[in-house]
Amino acid sequence: MSNPIMRRRRRILVTLLVGIASIFGAGQAWPEPKTKRIKLGKWTCTNHDCDPYIYDPSVGDININDEDNPIPPGTAFKDLPDNWICHICGDPKSHFEPIGEWVDVILPA
Ligand SMILES: [Zn+2]
Repeated sequence: MSNPIMRRRRRILVTLLVGIASIFGAGQAWPEPKTKRIKLGKWTCTNHDCDPYIYDPSVGDININDEDNPIPPGTAFKDLPDNWICHICGDPKSHFEPIGEWVDVILPA
């Protein structure tokens, strides 16, 4: 009944529509990862007897005064708890200074 040329045309049309739909639907099929990128500065311990320890906000830190609550990656130096101390020499936050080195930290948004 239906002729082969018409059938082929229909198949091409369907293929085309599916192709277009997949382009527009791509955003839903592959949602962008919900992350945000922030830039945070590294800080170094100024105690001359220290290694020195450099606080890297992309890594976080153990929290020697509260070992059950380690510092998660993405914590800016200014957001460290006030009782946080250098885990090498024990100096307080006030003995740290920025070294002007910045790291990208990718966090869940
Ligand atoms: Zn130190």
